[in-house]
Amino acid sequence: MKRIKRLFKTWLLSEMRAGLRLTLRRMFEPKTTILYPEEKTPQSARFRGMHALRRYENGEERCIACKLCEAVCPALAITIDLAEREDGTRRTTRYEIDMTKCIYCGMCEESCPVDSIVLTNIHEYHGEAHYDLCFTKEMLLAVGERYEQWIAHDLAKDMPYR
Ligand code: SF4
Ligand code: SF4
Repeated sequence: MKRIKRLFKTWLLSEMRAGLRLTLRRMFEPKTTILYPEEKTPQSARFRGMHALRRYENGEERCIACKLCEAVCPALAITIDLAEREDGTRRTTRYEIDMTKCIYCGMCEESCPVDSIVLTNIHEYHGEAHYDLCFTKEMLLAVGERYEQWIAHDLAKDMPYR
């Protein structure tokens, strides 16, 4: 009996018609997908993306090589080497973040006493090799220089995690 029922179902194309019915119904429902990257979903104000190192308006690096960010990083993603300058101040000679280790917790930003290291909301970046995602000091400063206006604006806003 079961076999006959199955045969009838096959002859009457009932499964195919059920599938088409479902397709037709879905065609007129609101879309749940978007055409990325032309369309984008709203981003949370608390989103943490690519890091940046900032400078003061006079071009001086904000970072004072205190190493707090390196010490607090739970993923051990930050590596800092430093040297003392002639005027007695300290500056980093190497500041590197391994983005493949980073868990985007934001603790480096929280710990920084001079608002030097920050997490921007930029998420559209990639690397084809591990080395591409080891951001050097020069790369991080370049991000900071490029987006300083945007970063300063975000920092000035009353953000819940800041
Ligand atoms: S966001 Fe968190 S894991 Fe990433 S570098 Fe900063 S402290 Fe480390
Ligand atoms: S980025 Fe901030 S916390 Fe990290 S070493 Fe520089 S001044 Fe210190």
